[in-house]
Amino acid sequence: LSLGTASDLLKKYEGGSVLDFGDAIICPGFVDAHTHFPQLQIVGSFGETLLGWLDKYTFPEESRFVDGNYARQIAKRFIREMLRNGTTAAAVFSTSHRQATEIYCEETLASGMRAVVGKCSMDQNAPKQLLKSIDRDVEDLEALISQWHGRDDRIFCAITPRFAPSCSEAMLNELGSLRARHPDIYVQSHISENLEEIDMVHDLFPNDRDYLAVYERFNLTGPRSLYAHGVHLTDDELKRMGETETALIHCPSSNAFLGSGLIDLRRVERHNVPVAFATDIGGGTSFSMLRTQLDAYKIQKLGHRVIHPVELFFHATLGGATTLKLDHLCGNFSIGKSADFIVIDSKPGDLLNDRLHNSLDPDEKLFALATIGGSNYIDKVFVQGNCVHERL
Ligand SMILES: [Zn+2]
Repeated sequence: LSLGTASDLLKKYEGGSVLDFGDAIICPGFVDAHTHFPQLQIVGSFGETLLGWLDKYTFPEESRFVDGNYARQIAKRFIREMLRNGTTAAAVFSTSHRQATEIYCEETLASGMRAVVGKCSMDQNAPKQLLKSIDRDVEDLEALISQWHGRDDRIFCAITPRFAPSCSEAMLNELGSLRARHPDIYVQSHISENLEEIDMVHDLFPNDRDYLAVYERFNLTGPRSLYAHGVHLTDDELKRMGETETALIHCPSSNAFLGSGLIDLRRVERHNVPVAFATDIGGGTSFSMLRTQLDAYKIQKLGHRVIHPVELFFHATLGGATTLKLDHLCGNFSIGKSADFIVIDSKPGDLLNDRLHNSLDPDEKLFALATIGGSNYIDKVFVQGNCVHERL
């Protein structure tokens, strides 16, 4: 409604109720641009790289989501964990089950969060119980889109081929047609995360010149297309992503944990590719977008580059919202947006408290939040002006 100094607003809304957060830091809710709700229980699984990790941990766990009760229990816990960490908007992968995806949408709506949600499409290279026929998959997606897409300006649907190797050409073709029928729908997937995976894509799609070309051929790039990782993309692929506004979602914790590689974010930016940051639970190991900023900083530092604290913070808030095309609804405190914000508070004697009080420069304070701050300092979380999490 309004934005201004306390004294002006108190005059304007005289007699209204006031929430006073004292010296605490109030900041916009975080945006997590890529995460997997069915992977809550496999966070921190030991020892594998991408393809082994999918076979050994991910596919067996995702198979359990055929059970609606289990899906609901995990959806509730996953959303609670995001809110506890100050994340108020996210782009989320479900499993290939329609019911589990509907349940996730219901729980998101009930929580007040905002989410782009996608039922995974897979018809090959995964256990049978996770595969769907093309007809069944498209029927499920059409139903989800008509029921959920745009609901309350808070739930948006994404066509979600898990990654190119999970889908036959016929399935990718149908997903591209579905996208053409619903031009405002999102697309989310993975790209060039791991060298073995890239070899697999070359073997499966030998006529495409590179990984991105597979998605391009099937109308799965362009605005509202969100591709996670992109660690090993070529300059030519990045150039095409930039030209078509196809986004790269950087998942630093996951890239380090699964040993996928060190991306050069400056190279991505040189090609004007839209970027957002993400946790990628459960390849990533933390729900915190503060921790994610620190991990992003460390990954660039290992490549002898630095990211400025403001840039880190931007990618986790307004930058993420912009890349997800949600910046007219959330991402900062502009008038007309949802009051989705978090209150970060530390007590005298806490390391964060010392660091904040010893830093005069706002950039240093932001960097202290990213390096030392964490969910334990998030005192309250609000979505649409309602308090949905309070630290005990
Ligand atoms: Zn992922």
